[in-house]
Amino acid sequence: MAVLSRNLLLASTLASLAFTQTIRKDEQIVPADESTVPVAAEEINNELVLTNDTLAELASLELSHISLFKFPENVEMKESTRRQLFTGCKTYPDHLLQPVWKIFNLLTGGALIKTVPVGAVCFINNEHYDAEKCQEILAHWNESPTHADDPTSIMSPLYQGKTCMPQNGNDSTCDIGGFPSYAVNISTVAQIQLAINFARNTNVRLVVKNTGHDFLGKSTGAGALSIWTHNLKSIDYIEQYTGRGYTGPAMKLGAGVEVGELYAAADKYGVSAVGGECKGVGVVGGYIQGGGHSPLSSLYGLGADQVLSIDIVLPNGRFITANATHHADIFWAVRGGGGSTFGVVTSMIVKVYPEVVYSGLTFNITSGNDSLANVTTEAFSAALESYWRRFPDYAAAKGHYGYSSVSPRFDGISGYTWQFHPWLAPGTNLIDFKKTITPLLVEWQAVGFDVEPSFFEYDNFYQPWLSHFPTEIVANANLRQSSRLISAKNWEDAATLNQTITTLKDILNSTLMIMYNIVGKRQQGVDNAVNPAWRETLFFVIVGSSWTDTSTPAEIEAANKAVTWNLGAKLRSISRGSGTYLNEADVAEPNFQQAFWGTNYDRLLAIKKSVDPWDTFWAPTAVGSENWYITNQKPWLPEQNGHLCRK
Ligand SMILES: Cc1cc2nc3c(=O)[nH]c(=O)nc-3n(C[C@H](O)[C@H](O)[C@H](O)COP(=O)(O)OP(=O)(O)OC[C@H]3O[C@@H](n4cnc5c(N)ncnc54)[C@H](O)[C@@H]3O)c2cc1C
Repeated sequence: MAVLSRNLLLASTLASLAFTQTIRKDEQIVPADESTVPVAAEEINNELVLTNDTLAELASLELSHISLFKFPENVEMKESTRRQLFTGCKTYPDHLLQPVWKIFNLLTGGALIKTVPVGAVCFINNEHYDAEKCQEILAHWNESPTHADDPTSIMSPLYQGKTCMPQNGNDSTCDIGGFPSYAVNISTVAQIQLAINFARNTNVRLVVKNTGHDFLGKSTGAGALSIWTHNLKSIDYIEQYTGRGYTGPAMKLGAGVEVGELYAAADKYGVSAVGGECKGVGVVGGYIQGGGHSPLSSLYGLGADQVLSIDIVLPNGRFITANATHHADIFWAVRGGGGSTFGVVTSMIVKVYPEVVYSGLTFNITSGNDSLANVTTEAFSAALESYWRRFPDYAAAKGHYGYSSVSPRFDGISGYTWQFHPWLAPGTNLIDFKKTITPLLVEWQAVGFDVEPSFFEYDNFYQPWLSHFPTEIVANANLRQSSRLISAKNWEDAATLNQTITTLKDILNSTLMIMYNIVGKRQQGVDNAVNPAWRETLFFVIVGSSWTDTSTPAEIEAANKAVTWNLGAKLRSISRGSGTYLNEADVAEPNFQQAFWGTNYDRLLAIKKSVDPWDTFWAPTAVGSENWYITNQKPWLPEQNGHLCRK
């Protein structure tokens, strides 16, 4: 009943939708189309932006529905109407809004895209079926560009509801599920402003997607309008940036720049930049806004610590620059407060660093009793323990980044595999690196862990990153993860360290562990919203639980619950009061506010309420998200394929 009355209200608010969309031209009312409706943008300071004047001009031409794109201070709506429209669930972009999309598309210069799920080409009963394109999608399904280059596809399809998996093309139908209904392919600030104003004024769900890497389903949502920032690719090198507290080299990065693009550009200018380990991750999108750990973090701090200035469109549709002296609250919050919360970032200026020497190692070793094994499982276990015990000697003392994964063997044979990809020592030459790790290598030899690492040394960051880091594999639809930031305090007394190691070994019996010996080093003079737990961290660990396409519903439920209540609980038991990294966390992390932001949460929530009183921006586990829920969800798996409703 409430939904019906809201829809009727919306219909009356959008009165005359059923009629032709029009505009006045040469004193005549004519149909609104590409030849009559100008793109709503004005050039100011080299940016195409939306202004009051542009909107007033279009209103004076009586363009249909132009009031839906107004800034909040110009919106006239009775308080009772507003209250009714903005309670309950977000507006679904169904037939009530259909005619408005045409106007929206015209105002954006044709940038609106109606969603066709990326897998639709594989469904023989679908109007978009295309055997050749389907083969292409299937062949590259686990590669990040397949999803980053699509307006709405995401790399964790689990949260979309898996309603159009191309692998199922022959035997089911393709539904839109948790994909947004529309996306705007952003090339100007004005398009972002139009999208935000429209979503806020109509209460339509808004989503921001850059590459779609998010592990928690934060860049998708059923019935949403998505702002797709992937094509904002500008990179400008600033040889000598001067701002409060920093003078030195910097780069201005558009919102769509990916890690690999940043590293290539930095290399061209003879500097190195703080970014993620995987090529396709969006730098100033979710990565920096969530904190962002990097191969260089033990030396230079997290991604968020590098930011000098942020260009952002706020939930009120206004485009601002936030830095240490202007809009300081926004500047603080966006650096670590999480994506899709305080607005849409269009670009950031970040510090970059002169090149230093890089050394390190890689290895890949398997334990067991068969011919594939290099070492016994006893030796393996002892070697892993010595490595864990020596963590303070590396990331904390020397600025190293130890990135490895260890897991029970996948071939069913008793034993483990351990892959270093890589152990990187920024600022350390190979001779010194070997000196630092010699005590560990001696211990390894003594326990029979006969590993022969491949060592390397380079005079820049780009080469080791290109040569020794793994290619990212994405879009596994049957996987959930949990993670934890383990504090350096765990290494301060023997009993706690013993308990930590016992628990880690127990966890390792059943899951793959991605391990980072890393420090989120606090940079002098930098204050931001990054989880304070990062500053204490010596070990960031990710664990996962998976199932298969043939698993029973009971097995799938058990695997999902295990993430939160078995693996996650064990990690929490050895790190009380710490937290985890919001970008690589369990979407059902208990008390996520504390776990993702610790003592910063109250301030973040206050900023969120003041900058976005409409809750125009929402994403699962984002700041303020606790006031909303998605309809029809299993309690152990929050997907994005229902309606978004206020609690
Ligand atoms: C294979 C892989 C490797 C990874 N490696 C690392 C790593 O080395 N280090 C690390 O720290 N993390 C890593 N991550 C995690 C990564 O940082 C997050 O998934 C991050 O959110 C990705 O950001 P994105 O913009 O590319 O993705 P998206 O999924 O497009 O966006 C992520 C979130 O940010 C929001 N968002 C995106 N752009 C904007 C914008 N312009 N303004 C406002 N909100 C925006 C989205 O709405 C969403 O909430 C990795 C993830 C994967 C899948």
